[in-house]
Amino acid sequence: MSVILKFDDVSKQYAKGRLALKAVSFEINAGEFVSIIGPSGSGKTTLLRAVNQLIPITSGSVWLDGEEISRQKGAALRKQRRKIGMIFQNYNLVAQLSVMQNVLHGRLGYMSGINGVLGRYREEDKREALTLLEELGLKDFAYHRASDLSGGQKQRVGIARAIMQHPKLLLCDEPIASLDPSSAKVIMDLLKEMTAKRGIACMVNLHQLDAAINYSDRIIGLCQGSIVYNGSPKDLTENLIERIYGTSRENLMLGNKNEAGS
Ligand code: ADP
Ligand code: MG
Repeated sequence: MSVILKFDDVSKQYAKGRLALKAVSFEINAGEFVSIIGPSGSGKTTLLRAVNQLIPITSGSVWLDGEEISRQKGAALRKQRRKIGMIFQNYNLVAQLSVMQNVLHGRLGYMSGINGVLGRYREEDKREALTLLEELGLKDFAYHRASDLSGGQKQRVGIARAIMQHPKLLLCDEPIASLDPSSAKVIMDLLKEMTAKRGIACMVNLHQLDAAINYSDRIIGLCQGSIVYNGSPKDLTENLIERIYGTSRENLMLGNKNEAGS
């Protein structure tokens, strides 16, 4: 199996404060679906943003597709970042633009500055955007303003935009945290299906343990910046859950916010 992402002994210390990541090492295989779980403040967002160097790491190295992205700058870094799509809790759409325009933004990293600024997309990109919207059940909304959509619809646009980028890896930071349970299920199903079909690896930060268990090939558990679990969802015992969250699964399911919020 080919490795798409590798963290080797990565630590992160913000300007002031404790280590947000402590000597973290792991690999993600091409096409794999991996959830990152852990309580609030355990380092999930820091870990995800360290992948594409949106957050520069303090020590160690990050390898993407065989190249050390943590040493890359300028054009080389931009080229690597094209391989990484992102999905956000709050969708990050441009509210006043159409759904179609938002999806086409996935192509910006491949376009010359002037074509990008003027929104001169290729016909084949427009066709692909429409096909993706159809696949996601949003064809009828292609020319609606993004701000008119529901949360679940907005996240589907987020998925379409990320897939338009033709990434090898998708980073999703709490993609369902703002959604009701039925929209959350639709989004997790689509994320899984759309990435599996295209062989895109997926790293998903989740605070919903049940979703992580149901959808993932593998789960990485973080606690205070350290990996305390890295394995199959089916081997995640009650003891290990307590080790990650500092509380029992029963408490988690009851929504013990003091110990395990997002
Ligand atoms: P999670 O996503 O699991 O909630 P984060 O990665 O956001 O965790 O945070 C990990 C730790 O790093 C926390 O202790 C948090 O307070 C700290 N942290 C996050 N972002 C910053 C920042 N910009 N400056 C200083 N500390 C930060
Ligand atoms: Mg976070």
